[in-house]
Amino acid sequence: MIKKLDWNFETALDTHGVALERKPVEVLQINLGKLCNLACVHCHVAAGPTRTEIMTRETVDRILEWLDENPVNRVDLTGGAPEMQPDFREIVSFATKRGSHVMDRCNLTILLQPGYEWAAEFLKEHQVEIIASMPCYSAENVNAQRGNGVFDDSIKALQLLNSLGYGIDPKLKLNLVYNPNGAFLPPPQATLEEAYKRELDKHFGIQFHSLYCLTNLPVARYANYLKQRGEYENYMQLLVENFNPGSVEGLMCRDTVSVDWEGRVYDCDFHQQLGLNPGGGESYLWDLDLRRWNQTPIRLAPHCFGCTAGQGSSCGGALL
Ligand code: SF4
Ligand code: SF4
Repeated sequence: MIKKLDWNFETALDTHGVALERKPVEVLQINLGKLCNLACVHCHVAAGPTRTEIMTRETVDRILEWLDENPVNRVDLTGGAPEMQPDFREIVSFATKRGSHVMDRCNLTILLQPGYEWAAEFLKEHQVEIIASMPCYSAENVNAQRGNGVFDDSIKALQLLNSLGYGIDPKLKLNLVYNPNGAFLPPPQATLEEAYKRELDKHFGIQFHSLYCLTNLPVARYANYLKQRGEYENYMQLLVENFNPGSVEGLMCRDTVSVDWEGRVYDCDFHQQLGLNPGGGESYLWDLDLRRWNQTPIRLAPHCFGCTAGQGSSCGGALL
C-alpha cells in the first residue's frame, strides 16, 4: 500500500524553508461570471451555458472606480467566457485608457458565435492580449475535454485571429493554454510548445506566440470528475509528491488580487471558486486598502500543491 503523504501545504513550505508572501500588486484578475458557451470537463469554475452568475452593472461601476484610484499594470479578464458579460467592452476600454495592459482569457469558440462578431476586431483595436485555451493540437483530445466540434471551431477562430495579425504582430499577443486531459502533470513546456508550433503550422497554417502549460487544480468540476472516477486521492498524492519549492517565488497569488463576479476579493481564482476568503475575512474590492492587503497572509489549502507540482503552474504557464 502506498504511504499517504501529508496534504498540508504549510508543512511542505516549512519543511523546505520557503515562505509564500505577497509582493506589490501587479495584476487585477476579474472573473466576470460563470456564463460560458462551453462546459468543459476540466473547468475549475464549473462554467456553462446555463449558469446565471454574471457581474452586474453596479458591480462593474464600483470596480472601475477602484481601478481609477488604484491603477494596476495588468487587468486579467476571465470567466466563464468574459466576452459574454454585457459590459466587457467598456471594462476593456476603461482599463486600457487607464494604462493597464489587458488580457482576455478567451475560449476561442466564442469569437464565432452569433452576436459576438465584434469581438476579434474589438480585441485587436485595444491590443488586448489573448490567452486562449487549446488543450491539444489533435481534434480527438480537444473534443473529449471540451465537447464535440470545439476543435474545428477553435482552429477557425485561430485562423481568424492570425488574419488580423494576432500571433504574428508582437503587439497582438496570442498565447495558447495547454492543460492535461487526464490525472497527470503537464509535460515540459518548451518541448510541447515546439510540437504545437510545428503541428498547428503544418496542418492549419496557424501561428501563435507562446504556449502556457497549466496543471489542472483539483477544485470544482475537475475535483468532482476525479472523485467520480476514484482518482482524486491519487492525483493529490501526485501533486504532493512533486512539490517543487523553486516554484513558490513565481506563484501568481503573490502579486495578484482576484475578484469574483460580485466584487469579492480572493488570493486567486481557485480559492475564489471554493469561497475561501483571504486571511482577513470577506471583503469587497471597493473596500480594499492595498497596504493592508500586502500584510494579510495568503491563505493556504491542499489544492495549492497543484501550483507547485513539477515545473509549477500559474496564469502565465510553467514557472520553471
Ligand atoms: S474551461 Fe473555459 S471555456 Fe471551458 S467551460 Fe470553463 S470557462 Fe468555459
Ligand atoms: S491555489 Fe492559489 S493561493 Fe494556492 S498556491 Fe495556487 S495561486 Fe497561490
